[in-house]
Amino acid sequence: MNILLVEDEVSLSEALVHILKKEKYIVDAVYDGESGLNYALTGRYDIILLDIMLPKMNGYDVLSALRKEKISTPVLVLTARGQVAEKVKGLDLGADDYLAKPFSTPELLARIRALSRRKANIISENILRFGDLEYNVSSFELICGDKKVRVALKESEILQYFLERPSFVVTKDELIVKLWGYDTEAEYNNIEVYISFIRKKLSFLGSKVTISTVRGVGYRLEE
Ligand code: CA
Repeated sequence: MNILLVEDEVSLSEALVHILKKEKYIVDAVYDGESGLNYALTGRYDIILLDIMLPKMNGYDVLSALRKEKISTPVLVLTARGQVAEKVKGLDLGADDYLAKPFSTPELLARIRALSRRKANIISENILRFGDLEYNVSSFELICGDKKVRVALKESEILQYFLERPSFVVTKDELIVKLWGYDTEAEYNNIEVYISFIRKKLSFLGSKVTISTVRGVGYRLEE
């Protein structure tokens, strides 16, 4: 598994590279945002560990540039800033997880394993699975037991997004960017409409999987 580490504190970077290599990960370390973006744009990494305060280009800008280029590599944001607002900003821009410095080695490794599992969940003949649910990305069919239902394009994009990040909170802003891009007039209630369509389909299928509302933030796919 290939990891890209974007961290300008040389001593921290060296320590992380040492830890990750010991765990048999292949690691490339770069020390500024611009190089981070250039390396990440190759699309050859399975996970990106991204610091926020970086020379040349900050982590937020790296992240939004990556997502704009449709690079969906899972990003774990590493930052000294512990505030909730910073975390929300990172997640809104398309980060998959967030770890505040200082963090422990076991915690870092656990987060990396979780992100790689999430990626592994996806493949296998265009089928995404979660709980008793299967979604066929190419036929747009949502399947539970012997029932199936077809979903529309936007619903499909939302479903895929959730299924690629099961159990993680997905914000409404993230969904808007995913569905309509950054420059859009779309509003939260556009998202709410699609979520309600998907919920109806889940209940029609009798699935144990639900989309729960996380008040003031967004949604989470749960069993
Ligand atoms: Ca830094």
